[in-house]
Amino acid sequence: MVQVNENYLKLKAGYLFPEIAKRVKKYSQSNQTSNIIKLGIGDVTEPLPKACIDAMGKALNEMGTSEGFMGYGPEQGYSWLREKISEHDFISRGCEILPEEIFISDGSKCDSSNILDILGKDNSIAVTDPVYPVYVDSNVMTGRTGNANENGTYQGLTYLAINEENDFLPEIPKNKVDIVYLCFPNNPTGATLTKEDLKKWVDYALQNKSLILFDAAYEAFIQDNHIPHSIYEIEGAKDCAIEFRSFSKNAGFTGVRCAYTVVPKKLLGFSSKNEEIDLWPLWNRRQSTKFNGVSYIVQKGAEAVYSQEGKKEVRGLINFYMENAKIMKNKLQIAGYKVYGGENAPYIWIKVPNKMTSWDFFDFLLQKVGVVGTPGSGFGLSGEGYFRLSAFNSRANVIDAMERIINI
Ligand SMILES: *Cc1c(COP(=O)(O)O)cnc(C)c1O
Repeated sequence: MVQVNENYLKLKAGYLFPEIAKRVKKYSQSNQTSNIIKLGIGDVTEPLPKACIDAMGKALNEMGTSEGFMGYGPEQGYSWLREKISEHDFISRGCEILPEEIFISDGSKCDSSNILDILGKDNSIAVTDPVYPVYVDSNVMTGRTGNANENGTYQGLTYLAINEENDFLPEIPKNKVDIVYLCFPNNPTGATLTKEDLKKWVDYALQNKSLILFDAAYEAFIQDNHIPHSIYEIEGAKDCAIEFRSFSKNAGFTGVRCAYTVVPKKLLGFSSKNEEIDLWPLWNRRQSTKFNGVSYIVQKGAEAVYSQEGKKEVRGLINFYMENAKIMKNKLQIAGYKVYGGENAPYIWIKVPNKMTSWDFFDFLLQKVGVVGTPGSGFGLSGEGYFRLSAFNSRANVIDAMERIINI
């Protein structure tokens, strides 16, 4: 008799986006309208940079010739891409991250959950609340939590509230946790950490021999020069942090799929006998065994992100979305809302007015003006009373949506 992984039964149904879709469908049917503006899901909307298209087209044509054909590549990624990343994303910012510490993958979503393969089951784990749901659910699936409580939190996880009261800065836990997930610039709140804020976490991790899993998927959206793009800008981070980066949000690769994970050579974990164990060989082994690399064509596309033309085009995309965010923040403030984020991240985090719940506000915006966002409560208990709008949309839609909200 085949047994299932019962940890999956602990998962609260992934109800957020299906529930949104259900309510939108009901609204559009009963009002016979398709005039709905969706500022909900965190997916990019602009086409790929031409530099990437050209590079991928060229690579595809090469593959059609006997001289240019490529089969399996290195599981870790091609060295020419890892070298570019090392040089442009790290060395240029003063971070000594070497090409062999960079592992190319098909996404940060998978990496941030696959990383659990090389980490013990009994680690204590902290996440922010609200949070990118992947971190929580992948811990549930691998049996690293207890059951869900009535309020939707899981037993055994440490939740670090980020809210208005603490300026969306997670407080260092009083208890010792072994693994901490940090995502900054933050999805969903749009909050950022300064070097000083981040240094406190690095110091905590070094002191407690903990590991920080740092998700920097939104680093390209940072406008303020004082905000670190990489955790390795903080001294000591190479001894306590793994960083996830993705081409999804900067170069619009959500449908192309390319990302990378940095595992520094110096990074140590511990065996049950307290022996020091290097993490790099474990991840290298994990990837070599379970992964067969990202397509040559896609890696060529990612490489083009670092060309002069590619950099210019990516900057253009970021500027476009951040101008959207600026318009949204400005108009929402004029409409009297308290809004956070949107300055170094493509997300606006609205404080829901009049003691409405996040879902009340969802229905309110949908029914009144046909604008769809994401209820903050879908990202965690402390997201209740907040609402996320994404700046990933056309300028016309953003302006239209804001006009509608202002005129409620
Ligand atoms: C979009 C996003 C990513 C990127 O995931 P990919 O699998 O690389 O597309 C990673 N982390 C967060 C928090 C995100 O919002």
